[in-house]
Amino acid sequence: MAMPADFQVAVIGGGITGASAANHLAAAGFSTVLLERSDFASGTSGRSSRLQHCGLTYLTPGRSIWNFLLHPLMALEHLELARRAMRDRSRFVRASPGQVRPISFNVPLYRKEGIPPWKAKLGFRLLELLDRGGVSLDFQQLGARQAALEPALRGLHDGGDLTGVIRFTEYQFDWPERICLDAVLHARDCGAVVRNYAEVAAIAAAPNGGWHLEVVDKRDGDTHTIFADCVVNATGAWADELTKASGLTLPTVNQGLKGTNVAVRLPPEFRGLAFETTLADGNPFYVIPWRNLHYFGPRDAPCSPSPEGFRADEQTIVDLVEDFRSVFPGVPLSRDDVLYSWAGVRPRTARFGHPDGCEAVLLHDMAKAGAPGYFIHTGGLLMTHRHAGASIAKAVSRRLKPACSGQPVRYVSRTLPTDPSSQPLSTGGTSVSIAQLRFVAEHEQVRHLDDLMFRRTPLGWSERMGLDVAHAVAEAISDIMGWSAREVAVEVDRYKALVAHQFGMELACD
Ligand SMILES: Cc1cc2nc3c(=O)[nH]c(=O)nc-3n(C[C@H](O)[C@H](O)[C@H](O)COP(=O)(O)OP(=O)(O)OC[C@H]3O[C@@H](n4cnc5c(N)ncnc54)[C@H](O)[C@@H]3O)c2cc1C
Repeated sequence: MAMPADFQVAVIGGGITGASAANHLAAAGFSTVLLERSDFASGTSGRSSRLQHCGLTYLTPGRSIWNFLLHPLMALEHLELARRAMRDRSRFVRASPGQVRPISFNVPLYRKEGIPPWKAKLGFRLLELLDRGGVSLDFQQLGARQAALEPALRGLHDGGDLTGVIRFTEYQFDWPERICLDAVLHARDCGAVVRNYAEVAAIAAAPNGGWHLEVVDKRDGDTHTIFADCVVNATGAWADELTKASGLTLPTVNQGLKGTNVAVRLPPEFRGLAFETTLADGNPFYVIPWRNLHYFGPRDAPCSPSPEGFRADEQTIVDLVEDFRSVFPGVPLSRDDVLYSWAGVRPRTARFGHPDGCEAVLLHDMAKAGAPGYFIHTGGLLMTHRHAGASIAKAVSRRLKPACSGQPVRYVSRTLPTDPSSQPLSTGGTSVSIAQLRFVAEHEQVRHLDDLMFRRTPLGWSERMGLDVAHAVAEAISDIMGWSAREVAVEVDRYKALVAHQFGMELACD
């Protein structure tokens, strides 16, 4: 596929960080190219717990008041992370209310954990102070007796140790892949060239400044060389891999951490309720509603961004079920109740002495390491992606003047056109019309069936992972995609294999 050869900025990686960077850069007037080797949002951004966290996690276990007093720099860093989380939460919820949904989160308080209710209340008060006038946390405190009256809370581990339950509102992205896609398409509307299935094989410094990028177009196998004054490496967990493959000797900046979630159907009293707690080993554990199901996790462990980092292993699934049973001994749940699972490798900022990396979200300007105009982003999160995009555009603007005049950054959710006469395809409470499928296939750079099922429409994240409608979807767009009957069958088989391998769900496609 032909591509212009000269840009001011090349953004590599079409996850949430790269998409947001491209959106901000293109809106600021920079001539921008966004290159993603697979589909947009198919990396870690498509494997998260989908939370717009309020930042409570930055103030909780391992981060006791003593820990904070002993490590004041860490305390300041975590307060800043919590402040940014709260502020970005408010901004996102206010700017894009249709892309998030409020969820009532419950945090059980146990005597043995040594967090008395007053301390928990203080933590929430602090969060609110970090974002005065922001979106409310709707903080509530239930005593142990009051909690025992609520059916879903009765299943909690107690043993007479429960001192109460904290309840507050978190927001859940519905759904992150589409938020990423929307940012990519807004960038395209502002003039950016956006390419999925375009892998950057190498980056080399150009003799008179700027960078040459070798780009392999995975649709036709052609290799192109393009030039960019600045490069933004937003490849997340692959950031160091790309630097090394290019022969650039730069410091290691990333540490991968694999996280896993499993989806189950919980009893009706759990409907719409979420839980956040700390396991006996000190790790966080979340139980989060998703349509008619719940998912729980994440059981983080250091990992490279290999394909194995993007599928749940059997032992972790079994361990997660055990985790659940330790928190809810009153709810019978076994491995057989797991409907599907997913895993991803978090891109964490590397830090000496921290084998799991750290939570800092950083833009590394590699000019100091002898690579001017080469930026690497680490620790990027869904919940702070707009801030990341804005800071990347700001850093680039310190080196370059935009080629065109700027315009406001667009965040609005791109709703698919509705046509009441078009037949709907429905599965597990999710419905998309044939006209919408055809619109997406025509206008949103779809190559494979899973691009459409998981990242352009929500069909893939339905209860049966879209296996029941995959064939009908492929047929509905076959003429636009140029798929013959045989190619439709190949795409459906590919989809089935992907869902079985990456999500552990095997069902016959209808
Ligand atoms: C289990 C789990 C739960 C999580 N929960 C949350 C949560 O609740 N809230 C939250 O905010 N965050 C959460 N996260 C973290 C969040 O999902 C990630 O930090 C974020 O998605 C990272 O985005 P990214 O754009 O930096 O990376 P990615 O989404 O991985 O994007 C990087 C992209 O670069 C591409 N790429 C790599 N190499 C090349 C190359 N050579 N050429 C072109 N493209 C390339 C990849 O294909 C990939 O698409 C969670 C993560 C996990 C694993």
